[in-house]
Amino acid sequence: MSVAVRFAPSPTGLLHVGNVRLALVNWLFARKQGGDFLLRLDDTDEERSRPEYAAGIEEDLRWLGLTWDRFARESDRYGRYAAVADQLKAAGRLYPCYETAEELSLKRASLIGQGKPPIYDRAALRLTDDARATYEAAGRKPHWRFKLEHTAVEWTDLVRGPVHFEGAALSDPVLIREDGRPLYTLTSVVDDADLAITHVIRGEDHVANTAVQIQIWQALGAAVPTFAHLPLLTDAGGQGLSKRLGSGSVKALREDEGIEPMALASLLAKLGTSDAIEPRLTLDELVAEFDIAKVARGTPKFDGEELKRLNARILHLTPFDAVAGRLEALGFAGADAAFWDAVRPNLETLADVGEWWTVTHAPVAPVIGDAAFTATAAGLLPDEPWDTATWGTWTNAVKQATGRKGKDLFLPLRQALTGRDHGPELKNLLPLIGRARAVRRLSGETA
Ligand code: GLU
Repeated sequence: MSVAVRFAPSPTGLLHVGNVRLALVNWLFARKQGGDFLLRLDDTDEERSRPEYAAGIEEDLRWLGLTWDRFARESDRYGRYAAVADQLKAAGRLYPCYETAEELSLKRASLIGQGKPPIYDRAALRLTDDARATYEAAGRKPHWRFKLEHTAVEWTDLVRGPVHFEGAALSDPVLIREDGRPLYTLTSVVDDADLAITHVIRGEDHVANTAVQIQIWQALGAAVPTFAHLPLLTDAGGQGLSKRLGSGSVKALREDEGIEPMALASLLAKLGTSDAIEPRLTLDELVAEFDIAKVARGTPKFDGEELKRLNARILHLTPFDAVAGRLEALGFAGADAAFWDAVRPNLETLADVGEWWTVTHAPVAPVIGDAAFTATAAGLLPDEPWDTATWGTWTNAVKQATGRKGKDLFLPLRQALTGRDHGPELKNLLPLIGRARAVRRLSGETA
């Protein structure tokens, strides 16, 4: 059977790094196994699902390069869920319940008060036909619970190892709401079964769902997939990441923080695994290194500062060909390999290019401390053409003429030529600044 996995976000908010980590791990697993990666939108929560969030999810995945082989949307499949619900009712596995939300919370509170686990007492199974008819006559609509078998539920999790639940220790889950709408616990299984998903890779917040969902797969006569439940990321302070927060969203990382897709992918592919986090320039490299067995059980921490450092390292390694189009789109038409190679070691984000583009292509106010010194230096500038050896030749001549060396020699030249104390190596910048600008800046002119 060919491998198929899915990423199944609910379009109820922006994706955060924890969500896309699961997308990435599923995608890497599929690519490594030569299987399918499916994007499924879990949009049955109609109050909270929004088309713009669905579009945002697709945009985030495309930006990361996580292409999907198949696509499904739960809201297209209500008819199918209704048919499965009928099948489960006919088999006696789905039963109507009439308790209100308040009655249920009172029951739960009373069980907890007695020190017992808040498991649904199945009172609805003992209702007489008359009692049911009375509820119906009073206008109460039932919600429907799945009748669990009180047997052991076991699976071997690719991350957690052997997992064991007792059916009797679980509440019969509600699968259909009063208004007739199916809930995630059912829809997810129906989709995974119909779409022939072989491996369900998701967060460990779903472990208890898996226990009840396995019984639903069995009740449907469908093949139970293999499971991997990954520990959820926390922020650097150990707090959970929430999808509804704008901060830490993939969109914010991309649009506000200037994070490169491969920086995020390099970090998320390795976070919480036995592999060291290293910059990688292509997803193919991450596929080659991927093995779900490397995922550890401990809670991984997402550290935004670590991501920024990785982002800088990725940019330092990126060849010109890989950014040429983006430089042009950013308005740096004419940026060439020499320019890119000169400035990339000083970038933290691609947008930082703008500062060095100004230094090489736009007027800059020089910083002059000792005008006589920079004037002498200007007089010693060799004729063009210039290359990366020009800086050494020139500064040697300036050293001979003035007796200055080290910082006394180099810092005033940098300040005059760039208007800054720090920046890319001047042997690379000088030919890009060019002789005409250099002479004027060394003379104190904004040029
Ligand atoms: N829509 C569910 C979620 O976002 C999917 C969980 C699953 O992978 O089954 O949590």
